[in-house]
Amino acid sequence: QAKTRGRGRYEFFDVELRERVQRQLRLEQDLRAAVPDGQLWLAYQPIVDVGTDRPVSVEALLRWTHPVHGVVPPAEFIPLAEESDLINIIGDHMLRTATQEVAELRARHGTDLRLAVNLSARQLDDAALVPAVHDALRAAGLPPDALCLEITESALMREPQTAAEVLSALRGLGVRLAIDDFGTGYSSLAQLRRLPLDTLKVDRSFVFGLGEPEERAKDAEAIIASIVAMAHAVGLTVIAEGAENERHARILRKLECDQAQGYHFGKPVPAANLFRDGQ
Ligand code: C2E
Ligand code: MG
Ligand code: MG
Ligand code: MG
Repeated sequence: QAKTRGRGRYEFFDVELRERVQRQLRLEQDLRAAVPDGQLWLAYQPIVDVGTDRPVSVEALLRWTHPVHGVVPPAEFIPLAEESDLINIIGDHMLRTATQEVAELRARHGTDLRLAVNLSARQLDDAALVPAVHDALRAAGLPPDALCLEITESALMREPQTAAEVLSALRGLGVRLAIDDFGTGYSSLAQLRRLPLDTLKVDRSFVFGLGEPEERAKDAEAIIASIVAMAHAVGLTVIAEGAENERHARILRKLECDQAQGYHFGKPVPAANLFRDGQ
């Protein structure tokens, strides 16, 4: 009897695995068509100065409206794109769109709003990245220092030497560089110091910790405070991610974070909605 049960389970997993692989293959094919079909679009989330609560920048976040499945989250399709050259095609497309849209917002609303764009590890390996960034800025007429490229710790640590070279070349264009989701990887500020970075984004898991019971919240505060102190000591601007409520915002202000991002200040929205409702 145990044998039958075992076999049944085996077949169950087999079917499940096959279905998962098939869904992924289909999604990957669909994703390939998504760019020419115009199914990809960008949502923008404000990043505010914690002193004034005013947006200084917006982070462009990729969205895919699939014709059948509806909106597919980036956590699901970016890893798929990263398995092939698709990430470079999509990355280039979104860079062009984002620089264009933000240049238009700046012209229309007379602001000097800046733009943050995420880069994948694989894009750092692509020789075409640096000229593509240069081209996108020029085509949009956006000053290089209005663009900040966000790269995660793990992407930087995968091929540290290559990453360092690409970062220097990007810095040479005049763009700013940020380390994204800081604290989730294993890099130390000592390692990061060798890279030409401007900004450190504290991962939202630390900010979420501020909402925990008293003792844990104290730990989260202490961790954020020490990240801020170290970052400031080496001249980096600090952005806290995932500020969801007034309490988070108040503590981040107290801890002297420079900027914050999160649902409390604004959710990611299409470019056309950014300047509505006083945002
Ligand atoms: P990320 O760069 O760390 O982006 C922040 C993520 O946190 C976004 O999720 C955003 O919607 C979410 N978020 C912002 N504020 C809050 C908050 O207060 N609470 C909570 N719970 N979440 C908040 P999203 O848009 O799903 O993006 C997820 C990740 O996908 C991004 O993380 C980034 O790593 C990646 N990604 C998004 N767009 C692109 C892109 O164009 N290129 C690349 N390479 N990666 C991208
Ligand atoms: Mg980011
Ligand atoms: Mg992040
Ligand atoms: Mg993140």
